[in-house]
Amino acid sequence: MRALYPGSFDPLTLGHLDLIERSAGLFDGVMVAVLQNPGKRPAFSLEQRLEQIRAATAHLAGVEVGSFDGLTVDFARQCGTAVILRGLRALSDFEFELQIAHTNKSLAPAVETLFLATAVHHSFLSSSVVKEVARFGGDVRHMVPAGVAEDLARLFNRTSPTA
Ligand code: ADP
Repeated sequence: MRALYPGSFDPLTLGHLDLIERSAGLFDGVMVAVLQNPGKRPAFSLEQRLEQIRAATAHLAGVEVGSFDGLTVDFARQCGTAVILRGLRALSDFEFELQIAHTNKSLAPAVETLFLATAVHHSFLSSSVVKEVARFGGDVRHMVPAGVAEDLARLFNRTSPTA
């Protein structure tokens, strides 16, 4: 069985990566797909985000990286997957994620949403917190893959902290 893991990934964090690694062990294949959301102005271009994910998942067999716009359920059908994966960090994620899951179920009854609980040491991580820390020159190397830390330093015109 294959799974689709959709998200903004702006940028990819170690929390996302942990979820991808764990799901790669559960499914025959995982498609990590960047949603091109016209309602959001991303910090990183689509190409940058795809490259960040490709670099961070290169060691994982069965993980593909792609992008889509439009409805997630339509893209799931296109990919031939009946499973949408989402991560739950805390109760605050639950209400929104449940609403999306029910909406998707009403649109495509054959597609199931599965939730994986975030690794507890990554449960504080979000793409926006990471950007906020990096913007003010904080060290984000324990929050994101190395390539993403470099991209963030470049984005905010800071030199990457060294060990
Ligand atoms: P979206 O804009 O679709 O919520 P995100 O990139 O913020 O995109 O998140 C994609 C998915 O990854 C969501 O299911 C989210 O709950 C999950 N996620 C976000 N941060 C983490 C984390 N630290 N650990 C595990 N999962 C996470």
